[in-house]
Amino acid sequence: MSDSILEEIFIKRSQQKKKTSPLNFKERLFILTQDKISYYDYDSEKGKRKSLKGSVDIDKIKCVEIVFPEDNAPQERQYPFQIVYDEGPLYVFAKTEEVRKQWIHKLKHVVRFNKDLMQKYHPCFWEDGMWKCCQQEVKQAMGCRVLETRNGGFSTKGSRRKSRKPLPPTPQEVCSLSAPRPLPPQPPPESGPAVGMTVIAEYDYTPVTDQDLELRKDEEYTILEVNDRNWWKARDKYGKEGYIPSNYVVEAMNGLERFHWYCKNMNRSQAENLLKTENKDGGFLVRDSSKAGKYTVSVFTKGGGETTGVCRHYNICTTPQGQFYLAEKHNFSSIPDLINYHQHNAAGLVSRLKYVVSIQTQNAPSTAGLGYGVWEIDPRHLTFIKELGNGQFGVVKYGKWQGQHDVAIKMIKEGSMSEDDFIEEAKVMMKLRHENLVQLYGVCTKQRPIYIVTEFLSNGCLLSYLREVLEHPSAIVLLEMCKDVSEGMAYLESQGFIHRDLAARNCLVDSNGTVKVTDFGLSRYVLDDEYTSSAGSKFPVRWSPPEVLLYCKFSSKSDVWAFGVLMWEVYTLGRMPYERLNNTEIVEKVSSGYRLYRPQLANDKIYSIMTSCWNEKHDERPPFKDLVHHIQDLLYNMQ
Ligand code: ADP
Ligand code: MG
Repeated sequence: MSDSILEEIFIKRSQQKKKTSPLNFKERLFILTQDKISYYDYDSEKGKRKSLKGSVDIDKIKCVEIVFPEDNAPQERQYPFQIVYDEGPLYVFAKTEEVRKQWIHKLKHVVRFNKDLMQKYHPCFWEDGMWKCCQQEVKQAMGCRVLETRNGGFSTKGSRRKSRKPLPPTPQEVCSLSAPRPLPPQPPPESGPAVGMTVIAEYDYTPVTDQDLELRKDEEYTILEVNDRNWWKARDKYGKEGYIPSNYVVEAMNGLERFHWYCKNMNRSQAENLLKTENKDGGFLVRDSSKAGKYTVSVFTKGGGETTGVCRHYNICTTPQGQFYLAEKHNFSSIPDLINYHQHNAAGLVSRLKYVVSIQTQNAPSTAGLGYGVWEIDPRHLTFIKELGNGQFGVVKYGKWQGQHDVAIKMIKEGSMSEDDFIEEAKVMMKLRHENLVQLYGVCTKQRPIYIVTEFLSNGCLLSYLREVLEHPSAIVLLEMCKDVSEGMAYLESQGFIHRDLAARNCLVDSNGTVKVTDFGLSRYVLDDEYTSSAGSKFPVRWSPPEVLLYCKFSSKSDVWAFGVLMWEVYTLGRMPYERLNNTEIVEKVSSGYRLYRPQLANDKIYSIMTSCWNEKHDERPPFKDLVHHIQDLLYNMQ
């Protein structure tokens, strides 16, 4: 056992794991070591430690904060604090302010590198099935108060907050924790969102909870808080404040957002679809190029009286002096100036830029969750419209949430999933947000079967799309699909999240042809030996590298192997990998170096990306972030 850091007798409140369990308060001896906080029964007469009553692992702790005392608290319960871990809060009462301060300080120090430190907490007690501070009735409900300092840090100042709400004061206001700053220094703020920055709404957003703020497209907002990376607190020009989905706004930075011809986040095939639908000679838009930080002008022309028309794409180039041009000799100091010039002069382009084709009509992207802090969805707000298919966990349906938002609903067949573990994990998965991941909106867990509610993608599963929908896809369309998947996976990799079952059947396609990855991490909760055991008939053997087949060693690098197989599925338009081999033969042959052949539609460069994913040594496979760059470069040179 490691050495004790602190020892103290505290009163501990019972944890009320059930709403009806009685509240009691007992004296316990608490011992803090480097890896655990343990509490013991204590014989106060003999001053002796008795049996161990419980303990919490330090690395499970998510928050340490003081708690606002109960109304009419007796003298011995004036200085409570909370140690929040995965089972909820542990409430402890110190005898004096000094002791409480000392313990909080030490605890914050030992937990400072923990993974899931909370940014919000409940300043009052959980009692009789309810948070006293915000009246929420779900124990896991996200905290209602933002920690003014990170968990690992302390405020050396008193609180400056002007509280408008009739809530009790924050713990920092009750007792100013003026402890010295602990080691190590806080990391510098990430570049990106910053409090005080001005953003422009790209889409309208209608509030879902009363904490949300309405967004109107093209209007400016000031960012007030960025603690939750999906929901920022903002103020509109009338002074109204509330939470907004962070992916609905862009920083008013490159200035292009103000122009209707600028279509952020649009790829080449989406631009072609849009221009062809508009069907106007000289229709144009400017989009982000596949190379980060560069822009492309896409123009549609019916040149020479053709009826069908064609799209041309011109990369906006920069001179060494930082000027912009499309055609040599016509340099401009800004992109709007360049566009303005070419609106009047073709000057080397297939047509002058005659009509702005705008994304006004594009669908707004998905938000992380349906409203700020919501993860439990009320099933009465769901309408079921049609069945989409049947999967490992049962039926999947298309429906609406609150009558207007498209959603897909997985109805989890009883006995098919280890539900409690999934529900716990769902809270982590809700926070994953990326354009190329199918967004988890929330869960309905209060009834059986439980539901998983996600973003709906109207073109369904990628495998069927490759097999049944695509007819003569261009090289660019195929590579863009791979790029979409690699970007979603690079994000998962950056979050340390392993997919474990990446394959075309676990990707979906939206109405614009964008591909998104789904079912990440879900295989861990499947209750079916045929699926979970590598010898089972449903185990994804064809997508697995040798180290998974032989030792069940999953990592982001085993996802990279699966990505290579997924690229192969894309370039064969959905063939079954190793179609002539059975699972036993695959294990044997793949472990001795046998690999999938080069699909006809894949050139050498594309095939070499696939084979790099199938390196026998997992640490020599490229990380997803390198795959993204490689694919972006290939795409850039194709435009
Ligand atoms: P499971 O992962 O439980 O095995 P799937 O995710 O494969 O189930 O879902 C079954 C089918 O339902 C898929 O093949 C797909 O056609 C459809 N589907 C699933 N999720 C969605 C969604 N979010 N949007 C549109 N269609 C979906
Ligand atoms: Mg699936």
